[in-house]
Amino acid sequence: TAAGGLAPAITSQELLSCVPELAEFCRIDAIQLYNLDSTNMGPEQWQGIAAAVQENYDRYDGFVITHGTDTLDETPYFLNLTVKSNKPVVFTAAMRPATAISADGPMNLLEAVTVAADPDARGRGVMVVLNDRIGAARFVTKTNATSLDTFRAPEEGYLGVVVGGKPQFETRVDKIHTLRSVFDVRQLKVLPKVVIIYGYQDDPEYMYDAAIAHHADGIIYAGTGAGSVSVRSAAGIKKAQQAGIVVVRASRTGSGVVPPDDSQPGLVADSLNPAKARILLMTALTQTKDPQLIQQYFHTY
Ligand code: ASP
Repeated sequence: TAAGGLAPAITSQELLSCVPELAEFCRIDAIQLYNLDSTNMGPEQWQGIAAAVQENYDRYDGFVITHGTDTLDETPYFLNLTVKSNKPVVFTAAMRPATAISADGPMNLLEAVTVAADPDARGRGVMVVLNDRIGAARFVTKTNATSLDTFRAPEEGYLGVVVGGKPQFETRVDKIHTLRSVFDVRQLKVLPKVVIIYGYQDDPEYMYDAAIAHHADGIIYAGTGAGSVSVRSAAGIKKAQQAGIVVVRASRTGSGVVPPDDSQPGLVADSLNPAKARILLMTALTQTKDPQLIQQYFHTY
């Protein structure tokens, strides 16, 4: 642990040896890719993790990736969009440090491995397993700064649960992912640059000037309510669009759909939160700048 939060401290091999129960029902190899606080991760690590899954695809029945909780709604969604996998890809994490009373890491790791080893977990897209719940990377997000049951999808719920040590699946994700996804960004070293601008009372227009000055390719507007824009943000969005930047309106509320509205500027993020919307826009912009096609991606991925 580090002052003020959790920091990665041990290798993946050491992590496995903390949970000897893992060896009882499957063979596990550990690959150490990074040892980073998840707030310091980004496209380089997304691509590195995706590549590791892809390169080792034929050798394993499933994949578990340990990750910090703070940005655990981001990396899994990138893999959900880009990894060509029918095999389970499961992210897990811990809210409490290993030294805490009732540390959650060991059980989360064990449950993530049981999900990754379960044939019924195939073809469900990338998953996030914590606290006995199996979440879809498309929907779950961190909803509470400190509590164990922080990963939720307020509208869509979970794919299933882990009960008595066994995964039990209840639903499937309808959105396009993994094998059916048209996105293949494996050869790209650099992804398009997309920033998020938060909407609030009195929000200044100069954030858009900054995005233009820094040559952003896209902007996600984390708007109030259903992505509504103030007079100031509308002016900023217009300016950005004139500079060739693709703008997508999302909601800062934490759940719900931003519906298409011709009276408002920009595309809409559907039910993707701003961080996930950023990842889809980065990925979509590798293929097209056609607003209609990008909008279609937002409704289907
Ligand atoms: N700051 C840490 C991280 O996201 C917190 C955690 O692991 O839960 O990497």
